[in-house]
Amino acid sequence: MQTKNGIVVMKFGGTSVQDSESITNVINIVKSNPLKKVVVVSAISKATTALENIARFAADKNTAEAEKLLSEIINRHHVIIDTLVTDSALKQVAAEKIISYEREITELVKGLSIINELSLRILDAFRVFGELMSSNVIYYSMKNSGLDVELIDSREIIKTNNDFSRAYPNFELSQLNADKKVKPLLDKKKIVLAQGFMGSTEEGISTTMGRESSDFSAAIYGSLVDADEIQIWTDVDGVLTCDPNVISNALKLSEISFKEMEELSNFGAKVLHKNSVKPALKKDIPIKILNSKNTSSTGTLVSSKLSYPEHVKSVTYKKNIIVLRVKPKESLNQFIFWEMMLNILSRHKPQIDILISSNNALIIVIAESAYTKIHYDELKNEFDEISDCEIVKDKVLITLVGSDLGTISNFEQSIFICNPGIKAESIIYGFNPHSFSLLVNSGECDKVLCNLHKQFFEGHTSDNGLFRKLNKNEEKSIA
Ligand code: ASP
Ligand code: MG
Repeated sequence: MQTKNGIVVMKFGGTSVQDSESITNVINIVKSNPLKKVVVVSAISKATTALENIARFAADKNTAEAEKLLSEIINRHHVIIDTLVTDSALKQVAAEKIISYEREITELVKGLSIINELSLRILDAFRVFGELMSSNVIYYSMKNSGLDVELIDSREIIKTNNDFSRAYPNFELSQLNADKKVKPLLDKKKIVLAQGFMGSTEEGISTTMGRESSDFSAAIYGSLVDADEIQIWTDVDGVLTCDPNVISNALKLSEISFKEMEELSNFGAKVLHKNSVKPALKKDIPIKILNSKNTSSTGTLVSSKLSYPEHVKSVTYKKNIIVLRVKPKESLNQFIFWEMMLNILSRHKPQIDILISSNNALIIVIAESAYTKIHYDELKNEFDEISDCEIVKDKVLITLVGSDLGTISNFEQSIFICNPGIKAESIIYGFNPHSFSLLVNSGECDKVLCNLHKQFFEGHTSDNGLFRKLNKNEEKSIA
């Protein structure tokens, strides 16, 4: 790797830090990189979901169930400390810290069981403990193994708006904090260890940036410290041509552009959180997706420089799609209708995937998520007042992603020829040169993915170095 500032951000996800063995592996990966490092960590696997469930149980006044779940999570952290922190003085401080977090969560459970109402802000107050606890055990494990590491609290660096559960950072404020608190540590060649996923409002209230957003945190840190590279260490070999759970012979991509990666993440691929590309793209910092369980794999490079342009790179899908077909009431003038629509949307802030309009209808495509479930009924009620609103559920949005798709010969034709008999509800193409989407019935999803994968990727491994077969070792790591 060519170095600019000699700084690398390394992010390790939940499965990469799930137990003592995985954390030992992380420490070895960190030790083997000679650059200055910011290490961003997720909560240990399943901890965030457990914390959300603890909050839900507490709000339902089921404190017994909440405490049972809590003690399981706490215990997993103690087991890691017992195994990895062998120095008795360090072991004691590490364990005490976990005990004090347990006390804080128990207090929150008590309070919530009295209030009896769960808000997104309170959910965030619970969620941050996952990363606080994991970073604590990783910090003491690193110290125990001789690393010169400093633990920071991401809430003191990453300042966000107060859109709880999907907060967005304020880069200017965060930059001031990073300049003051992160860069001096790097200058002293300290390894900076930070939590992913979380930040805080200007007033210091804990926020989170959306499930799986530690990748985004890594990209934010990468941008704040002007890193040479952002490494996302996960449990797959990189970006694949399709979800290997559906297509067993999916291939690994050696490279993908920022724009393509952004489209893939927007349209369902789980490998990188959808917001991660923006900060990296803005400063042109390459992102490398690597497998912490298979360090010999070369991973996938996400960057602005492509050796293989004009290619279909991957096919992805998003399930549980809701389609709202909105037709304005006849009495409403087109522009008044638009104004009312935008007003409703800006108040409910649904995460819209696609919005298509003609002069007398509007199609809104939304992927159902925990968030949309909370707001969905109210949204529909308000639409009903100004329109005939029809709702179609249980669709799947299938998207082919690549560069300059319009220049690939017979691209559109091949999609339909390889899918005889499939009825696509809508086709979305031409907004940008990187994606082509089809809205199909859920039952047809796997068949369409198989057909498209055969058409665009199978038999392409010998073409060039873009598509690589996964070896046995790698397949195992994905399963
Ligand atoms: N711990 C958070 C989650 O499980 C964030 C992350 O892992 O990226 O969603
Ligand atoms: Mg992830």
